Amino acid sequence: MTGQATASNASNPPAAIDSLISRRARSIDASGIRRVFDLGAKLKNPINLSIGQPDFPVPQPMKDAAIAAIGADRNGYTVTQGIPELHDAVWRHLARTIGWKGPSNDLGTIVTSGTSGALLLAFLAVLDPGDEVIAPDPYFVMYPQLGPVSGARVVTCDTYPDFRMTAERIEPLITDRTKMVLINSPSNPCGVVLTTGELREIVDLCERRGILLVSDEIYDEFTYSDALEEGRFPTPARLTENMLLVRGFGKTYGCTGWRLGYAAGPRTLIQEMAKLQQYTFVCAPSIAQHGVVPAFDVDIHAYVAAYQQRRDMVLDAFAGTAEVARPGGAFYAFVRPPASLGLTGSAFVERAIERNVLIIPGKVFSHRDTHFRLSYAVPDAMLADGLEILVDLMRA
Ligand code: PMP
Repeated sequence: MTGQATASNASNPPAAIDSLISRRARSIDASGIRRVFDLGAKLKNPINLSIGQPDFPVPQPMKDAAIAAIGADRNGYTVTQGIPELHDAVWRHLARTIGWKGPSNDLGTIVTSGTSGALLLAFLAVLDPGDEVIAPDPYFVMYPQLGPVSGARVVTCDTYPDFRMTAERIEPLITDRTKMVLINSPSNPCGVVLTTGELREIVDLCERRGILLVSDEIYDEFTYSDALEEGRFPTPARLTENMLLVRGFGKTYGCTGWRLGYAAGPRTLIQEMAKLQQYTFVCAPSIAQHGVVPAFDVDIHAYVAAYQQRRDMVLDAFAGTAEVARPGGAFYAFVRPPASLGLTGSAFVERAIERNVLIIPGKVFSHRDTHFRLSYAVPDAMLADGLEILVDLMRA
């Protein structure tokens, strides 16, 4: 700002920035999660069960690939849709795991800045102001906020108490403005995994009503043995190619900060998303794109098995005390403290924080305030200590 513009006697006094902020930005309320972070920041060495990312390091072949890319001066822009080596790796993976053959006249892929980038581009490419998208409640925190960002109306589908977003629960919410159904399995914050039977009904419903199905599968590899079907992760992509598949690398390989995901689906839609990416993100981070080329060859089964054991520790700890929908994947549990305590989810979280345990109130992920989210992506000993305190609080 120049001296002239800030002078108090200027003929056009500078507008107060507050009055210039858009309704879009103002309508986004980040206070719930911020309050938890503020409370958490005051704790010394908390038992932190609030973290939404894995606790293992990035596999060495991926580190080597990223470092090699920097060393080879591959630091510039990439093509908007992502580097060909990564597209080839993604297509080999999709062909092997869901039978999609591409790229083709019908199917395309785009590499995005995180799974978040793919979701934002999908909303911008499909939804006009006033259009509706149906998303689960409880939800990943970004979903409702994509409403104000895109101008669309996010209609939430109440999935309490079992957290299954079924066709039966979705259908009554469909109007003539509904263009998209967004599902998330395994889910954040509940870890619930939908069955192929449930997914088939959702695919049929969307096809019958001419609605785009978007499947956020960021936790696909974190599906536990008891939720797999014939050894495979249940996905609607095995039932139809007429949908948008959204996946990420951050959670699977412990590289959330690399900001990398991808979307696959109808070529026309992918092309529209690429156009929007060109004039917003430009491309996904180049170094990260090179870094994840070897990702699909990395075996993370040992990590998934360890998380499954931690999931079992959580279920065992709360058995007979609190209500927990059995997580079939991801690394979260959504827990309802006993009604006899007479506490909201938020009030219970405050008590936990007083005992140095950091968890997140369910209302950050929901219109209801009855549960809390616990992440078990932490070492066994820390998890055991945290569970002991939480159960003790429930018995008080
Ligand atoms: N979807 C879900 C369900 C998530 O839990 C997250 C991250 N917590 C994202 C999308 C966003 O992931 P990314 O870091 O790849 O943008």
